[in-house]
Amino acid sequence: MTAAILDGKALSEQIRSEIARDVATFAAETGITPCLATVLVGDDPASQVYVRNKQRASEKAGIRSQSFQPDAATTTEELLDLVHRLNYDPAVHGILVQSPLPKQIDERRILEAVDPLKDVDAFHPENVGRIVQGRPRFMPCTPYGVQQMLIRNSIPIAGAHVVVLGRSDIVGKPMAILLMQRGPGGDATVTVCHSRTRDLAAVTRSADILIVAIGKPKFVTADMVKPGATVIDVGINRLETGLVGDVDFEAVRQVAGRITPVPGGVGPLTIAMLLLNTLTAAKLQQAK
Ligand code: NAP
Repeated sequence: MTAAILDGKALSEQIRSEIARDVATFAAETGITPCLATVLVGDDPASQVYVRNKQRASEKAGIRSQSFQPDAATTTEELLDLVHRLNYDPAVHGILVQSPLPKQIDERRILEAVDPLKDVDAFHPENVGRIVQGRPRFMPCTPYGVQQMLIRNSIPIAGAHVVVLGRSDIVGKPMAILLMQRGPGGDATVTVCHSRTRDLAAVTRSADILIVAIGKPKFVTADMVKPGATVIDVGINRLETGLVGDVDFEAVRQVAGRITPVPGGVGPLTIAMLLLNTLTAAKLQQAK
């Protein structure tokens, strides 16, 4: 069997055109153009690419972007000052602080300082709590992108055994939460695995849907996948030969029923969901 490819690029274009339409409607009704402020500390090349892609995608969807690039030696206090300024700026609706931050910065203090109504990454504890309780304000971008990938490809989630490999605050944990919620797009039986999981391959082989986010190139091999399973590869690893995921794509596609490529899988959907959250942020602030 050769797996069907789940095309994140095409799906992301479709979702982004839906968002562009909704941004235009909102702007026509209110006279407000949603605006995303991006904060990139230092000059890490990979982060620069991510931020530039996010700005380009925003502009294509009719969302303004403002860019701030404090130097790599910035202190926590200086960054907090910038975040506070953006919190109080009525022209800014969403604030994105690109991670990773330099070591001297207390990342937790920064994420907690972002106004929860402008927290388009959904990293603030208030927004995380709302997601856990099933009443989200903003959706966690990467996990929501994965959920939409499953829903829009008519992959059954309710009752399925989903195995999430990785338990980070950004991907693994919120991913598990979204798919275990009651209701449409949820109702899965979710198992979360990590570096202390015993007999990992036995667990991953029991998955109807295997979602991998560990940051280890080609870690998931064909023998770890149940024949016919859906395999979602969140990993992005930069090797000299180019980008690869956490899944050994060529081997696993011989076993899986459906699989996401890297690049062109989950990555483009993450950006689409950031745009959606920026529009939501503008609506929330307009309603306030
Ligand atoms: P992270 O914070 O480094 O977390 C990695 C997780 O994987 C941890 O929970 C860790 O377990 C687990 N892990 C590591 N090695 C393992 C092993 N040998 N066996 C089992 N579990 C293992 O990573 P992250 O931020 O979630 O990112 C994961 C990957 O996704 C990275 O490649 C990142 O670049 C990519 N990513 C992509 C997008 C996108 O838009 N496509 C967005 C975000 C992240 P412990 O908790 O036990 O240490």
